[in-house]
Amino acid sequence: MRRLPLVESRSAVYEQWPARPDDFDAISLLRDARGRRYTYLRLSVTDRCDLACVYCMPPSGEDEHAVRRDLLTFEEAARLVSVFASAGIRRVRFTGGEPLVRKDIVRLVELVHRRTEVEELVMTTNATRLSELARPLRDAGLFGVNVSIDTLDAERFRELTRGGDLGRVLAGIHAALDVGLEVKLNTVPLRGRNDGELQRLVDWAWSLDATPRFIELMPLGEGAKLPASMRMTADDVVDALGAQVCRDTPTGVEGHGPARYLAARDGSGRRVGFITPISDEFCDTCNRVRVTARGDIRACLASRRAISLRNIMRAGGTDLDLAWAMVWSLSGKDRGHHFLEPDEHEHERVGMSLIGG
Ligand code: SAM
Ligand code: SF4
Repeated sequence: MRRLPLVESRSAVYEQWPARPDDFDAISLLRDARGRRYTYLRLSVTDRCDLACVYCMPPSGEDEHAVRRDLLTFEEAARLVSVFASAGIRRVRFTGGEPLVRKDIVRLVELVHRRTEVEELVMTTNATRLSELARPLRDAGLFGVNVSIDTLDAERFRELTRGGDLGRVLAGIHAALDVGLEVKLNTVPLRGRNDGELQRLVDWAWSLDATPRFIELMPLGEGAKLPASMRMTADDVVDALGAQVCRDTPTGVEGHGPARYLAARDGSGRRVGFITPISDEFCDTCNRVRVTARGDIRACLASRRAISLRNIMRAGGTDLDLAWAMVWSLSGKDRGHHFLEPDEHEHERVGMSLIGG
């Protein structure tokens, strides 16, 4: 048994963890005390973004970012993914902040693809730089992108993203489809902002052969400052979609989760996805673990426990030390996220752009 170096991390809850076993067999797959198994890693590659969506990032100038030396290097990120893969992770999503603003992101994707055993590499992006990067990313081994798009109205897009250019995003989506990336489209429905165009967003996504998905607004980051009246549940969205979807054919959680899907009423086989962290917590089936751009592992968006894998690596830790830190970080994961419960530590919750959405 060996004791790991005590690591430090900003915004972390520090705990001394038990001595680790001396071989990988004792660690094997990532599971938590509730029997959930972890197969999906969301790896944030930057906490910066070229947009500032009203529910996510503060206006530029008011936000704080990691300095370069705090970020995981590409070598460190690839090493981490390789250790995660040996502990059962099969799918990796690059996220942020905006992953495409990280310099040389294509090289990182290529490195992870070449060096690790992961089965599928995907990315969540705002697509502003995708028209230039879709092909190199696909060639580097990326399988698909989830693109965030909350409106098809250029002026409203500028408002919701505090200055973004809808034209660039649309060009990025088309480039991704043209090179054969799988495309899903994510929308955060906001009452009084984009609720009048949800049907149009669905029709448009279907016309591209892409799957539209709606994510309930979470009280995280700038989203915690928006009035609760702006939140729309999945049921509210289904009501707004009306005859577009069959209410009685929910497909349940599919594939890599956590989205649930409803089929189109026209029998075409097309679907609409709903991600319902608020109205229908999916924590019982959670299979995901998050690593921030600074290299902190977090078991959940809502969890306060964060262990710095970066510091373990920089202190000379072995792959086994890293695997043990991963196991330990997941071991005490809560059953649920408790987003809507009053919490004296609420100020310690950080936004999705910091943790990685
Ligand atoms: N920049 C990329 C993008 O926008 O797709 C990746 C990072 S972003 C943090 C990932 C996802 O988180 C986006 O789909 C965004 O809509 C969602 N998101 C951010 N803040 C949110 C909040 N408060 N509630 C719900 N979804 C949020
Ligand atoms: Fe940037 Fe994505 Fe957050 Fe919007 S949701 S501010 S695009 S990180």
